[in-house]
Amino acid sequence: MSRLETADRSRIETHQLGRLQEGLGRILPANRFYRRKLLQESEIISIERLADLARLPFTSKRELVSDQEEHPLFGANLSYPLSEYVRFHQTSGTAGRPLKILDTQESWDWWAECWTSVYRAAGVSRDDIVFLAFGFGPFIGFWSAYEGAKRLGALTVPGGSMDSLQRLRAMQEIDATVLVCTPSYALRLAEVAQEHGIDLRELSVRVTIHAGEPGASIPATRERIEQAWGARTYDHAGMTEMGAYGFACSEQQGIHVNEGEFIAEILDPATNQPVGEGQVGELILTNLGRWGCPALRYRTGDLVRHGGYSCACGRSFLMLPGGVLGRADDMLIVRGVNVYPSALANILHRFPEVTEYRVIVTKNGPLDEIALQVECPTALISTIQEEMRVALNLRVPIEPVELGTLPRFELKAKRVVDHRPRL
Ligand SMILES: [Zn+2]
Repeated sequence: MSRLETADRSRIETHQLGRLQEGLGRILPANRFYRRKLLQESEIISIERLADLARLPFTSKRELVSDQEEHPLFGANLSYPLSEYVRFHQTSGTAGRPLKILDTQESWDWWAECWTSVYRAAGVSRDDIVFLAFGFGPFIGFWSAYEGAKRLGALTVPGGSMDSLQRLRAMQEIDATVLVCTPSYALRLAEVAQEHGIDLRELSVRVTIHAGEPGASIPATRERIEQAWGARTYDHAGMTEMGAYGFACSEQQGIHVNEGEFIAEILDPATNQPVGEGQVGELILTNLGRWGCPALRYRTGDLVRHGGYSCACGRSFLMLPGGVLGRADDMLIVRGVNVYPSALANILHRFPEVTEYRVIVTKNGPLDEIALQVECPTALISTIQEEMRVALNLRVPIEPVELGTLPRFELKAKRVVDHRPRL
């Protein structure tokens, strides 16, 4: 653990202010996107104290996407000449047009360094063998995980161009001790292992690290992964346009924001005012080292709970209990009850007989309705329904479906099928 991770808050804030000021000095001469945004009455907004950050305008994904449309191909959020950039990645584009992101070597090294914090917090060291169960494409997550493991000094194994069984065999053969993949895929691998008579608990994997979607911070999902793999499971949070900003510690109660490299604000989406400890709001992030393609006061759209600054692990970095709770636009309002897909996962994953499920969302007049399709024995349906009623105060129609009929996922799962008319 770095010294800053356990430092008192004033030291952390002094560090953040220094980094932000230095970064602005590097961004502003050439970055047309932020130069324009930070210009107010012919003066650039100056940052004298950390509280001045609140004077800067927000950055939204929509804004970055339309900037790339206006200034093809890569937009105006570049602080250096194009020849300085060495990495190209893009977002998955699930919520619209993919965003193209470039990194300089310096920014890419910063990504890798952020990932070393994720590994260290999970107890991973240079003695580990890290297997990345992922087809390497333009999605940034696992490339940066790969670079981070290399930087840590661990033996790093790419698992691209393999099917699930080949990946399992490869992990067996090389004695992998760490698995990095999405939480959905860790469960899919467990299912394939079972089909082929492989007992994952006999593998050398002792740590699994998950990114790309909530899951490893949902207690029932985490427990299911840990039991299948006989390993400890850690959550990680990151975004293509932001960086690898959060990691789970040994307490496994959620994620810490890496405040050495990011500034976090948690704001009430309705008022844009900071929420108090214990309350839920939208996470707004500023990165402090990706100067080639920075993001200042970026609206992540992710809802998180403010968990204060103390943790049994000794870190004083901001805690987000339960990790990312969901996207602000994922929340469903069913008969007046707020339902997050993660809450459904937390109930369904408690039942070992449930192998996969899907949430069907429809509209009944002005109201959202949900129904579930669940791969499980028919006899279990009424028990699951009762659990849902107790936990969510909702009666949810559930249709049992045959084992193996619902889709499986290697990357982010798409378990919510939205049949509501588009507005
Ligand atoms: Zn902690």
